[in-house]
Amino acid sequence: MGFDTVNIICYFCNNKIQIQSKAGECKLKEYDFKDAPDKILVDLSGSEVKCNCCGAIYKIETCTIAKIDLIKSPLMGCSG
Ligand SMILES: [Zn+2]
Repeated sequence: MGFDTVNIICYFCNNKIQIQSKAGECKLKEYDFKDAPDKILVDLSGSEVKCNCCGAIYKIETCTIAKIDLIKSPLMGCSG
């Protein structure tokens, strides 16, 4: 057993804040926030983390937005 770590860089003081999640592969991997797998970010959604350096508090939010993705363009020459 283990956990994966997500690193957040504090906007104010550039301190590295670490959050741990057990939702991922749990192989003691470290991710930058922008590179973290969705599964981990969803697990951390709603979590609050505090910067130990300057005291800023961040809340992790993941949002799912319904959208339509085009995965295949229409056939050329369609006369319909
Ligand atoms: Zn800070």
